[in-house]
Amino acid sequence: MSEGESEVGKRGERRARSEAQPSEVESGKPVALVTGGGTGIGAACCRALAAEGFRVGVHYRSSEDKARALADSLGDSFSIRADLAVPEEIDALVAELKDAAGRVDVLVNNAGFNVNAPMLAMKLDDYDAVAGMSRGAWYLTKGILRRFMLRRKSGRIINISSVVGHTGNPGQIPYTMVKAGLDAFTKSLAQELAGRDILVNSVAPGFIDTEMTGELPDDVKAAILARIPQQRMGTPEEVADVVAFLATRGSYVNGCVIHVNGGMFGG
Ligand code: NAP
Repeated sequence: MSEGESEVGKRGERRARSEAQPSEVESGKPVALVTGGGTGIGAACCRALAAEGFRVGVHYRSSEDKARALADSLGDSFSIRADLAVPEEIDALVAELKDAAGRVDVLVNNAGFNVNAPMLAMKLDDYDAVAGMSRGAWYLTKGILRRFMLRRKSGRIINISSVVGHTGNPGQIPYTMVKAGLDAFTKSLAQELAGRDILVNSVAPGFIDTEMTGELPDDVKAAILARIPQQRMGTPEEVADVVAFLATRGSYVNGCVIHVNGGMFGG
């Protein structure tokens, strides 16, 4: 029995919820799924991909109102829920996508979670919560490949990693480990899929003006700005622009990490 068809998966299916209307399933448009699509960089990716002609699955965990409102504003799109730390909810999400969309052409693994604490103060539970997102992206990608992309023999997978996975950042050891690992995932999967028309890349943002960075203390923000040659944080739209390029063009870009950070790190 495959993981997607396990009892755990069946239980999870009852938990998943999407707001797609059956008539929309047959629209024939390519479909992009953006995890954590209700907020920040994910929301900007949803808007950019809709502008490129995709029907967008706006995934969320807790930001239901934002995800619904965004999907409504994009027209031929839908919102869909799952906690990516819970494998049975991922199984359910994939099954629900089959009914709600029938296809997934682009997967943007954008959802992320961080706990800031220095090494000695970081708890094992914090580590697990941060690292759980890495496992979730891996398991969701597996489901999307199996159910959709390998059957269609095409697809684009874009992982949103981070500059700090390359530079390190004090107080963020689990987060930087996860982000460095995500870029390794990109490179390994791109090689595994060699010869198929499924391209896998990472977009590694620098410091972007979102709720995640909004929580940083002012002195930390000032220290960050001092490290950015362009002397400002980026916008979610500037990240989404690169995601849209990789999703629609970029046909000879594969297994790469594209840095979007105002010049603070070039790879
Ligand atoms: P954000 O607005 O806080 O977005 C994080 C998203 O992840 C939320 O939409 C959240 O969904 C989702 N999420 C968190 N835990 C989840 C879980 N267990 N299951 C499902 N979804 C979950 O922050 P952001 O800045 O836009 O970050 C987006 C991505 O960019 C993240 O991967 C982050 O690491 C990366 N990044 C951000 C920056 C930056 O400067 N902002 C820099 C480099 C990389 P709900 O709200 O629905 O719970």
